[in-house]
Amino acid sequence: MAEILRVEELTKYFNTKNGLLHAVDGVTFSVEEGKTLGIVGESGCGKSTLGRVILHLHERTSGKILFNGEDISEVNAQKLHALRKDMQIIFQDPYASLNPRMTVGNIIAEPLKNYKLTKSKEESEKKVREMMDIVGLADRTYNLYPHELDGGRRQRIGIARALILDPKLVVCDEPVSALDVSIQAQVLNLLMELQKDRGLTYLFITHNLSVVKHISDDITVMYLGQMVEKAESNEIFRHQYHPYTKALISAIPVPKYNAPDNQIILKGEITSPINVGKSCRFAARCPYAKENCFNTEPVLEEVTKDHFVKCHYVKEINGF
Ligand code: SF4
Repeated sequence: MAEILRVEELTKYFNTKNGLLHAVDGVTFSVEEGKTLGIVGESGCGKSTLGRVILHLHERTSGKILFNGEDISEVNAQKLHALRKDMQIIFQDPYASLNPRMTVGNIIAEPLKNYKLTKSKEESEKKVREMMDIVGLADRTYNLYPHELDGGRRQRIGIARALILDPKLVVCDEPVSALDVSIQAQVLNLLMELQKDRGLTYLFITHNLSVVKHISDDITVMYLGQMVEKAESNEIFRHQYHPYTKALISAIPVPKYNAPDNQIILKGEITSPINVGKSCRFAARCPYAKENCFNTEPVLEEVTKDHFVKCHYVKEINGF
């Protein structure tokens, strides 16, 4: 499979009154066409900002973004307009991201209008109704408003709106987090079917590791703006080498009566992402931290084939 997206040393800093906030700091990865990269981490780790920087919804501070081999780190308005057709986003809160004054049909038709992709109202309506069918929205909802539908169907509108332009890459930013558990599985299955049928590439951003387990080919774990572990999905569920990933995986509930509670409870304060120094950003909460961790930043290194970890003591902790 060809590589469709590559980011190299991507950073995004925000100026705040207290100093520079390091939202995304030196992130490097690539994704092959038709695959899913799960990006996981707790709230505030920079995963959503990373997705938005790739889509140019935020401008990067430094680093490179390559899409289909082309450097798109800096683009003018015309190029950005063309790119947006190929790179779409599905938002977390379907209700907040849909215009409450527009009908379902008009919301899904809007991108077609913006890109002048249909010649008549009839052609646009036909395309919209076809897309509604593909994402499992009943035809009778065409003239309804978002508030008349439940969360799952609202998210299907968001998916239809993102896919109507036939994009290549879709950033799914916590697409099921706001939905009931029973509906989450339906929407995840829909996203997987659509990927198979249309060859889509996903960046799947979530705080919930159990959600990405089935949909992701590879998983990268982020902590305070940095990647701390990356591996193939099954591998990361079998072997977690970074202390933070171990804690994340231990927090996934086991649906079994009398299952032992092996959850690792992290203690300590989260380090401020403002004016960070040269240290391991996880040091204040890490049960294995040594003095060196507080004054030297570890590097992301390959510890087993295609399994990367950012920790000074990864070998010692895991008994390699
Ligand atoms: Fe923990 Fe030190 Fe490894 Fe950071 S570098 S994860 S503080 S052991």
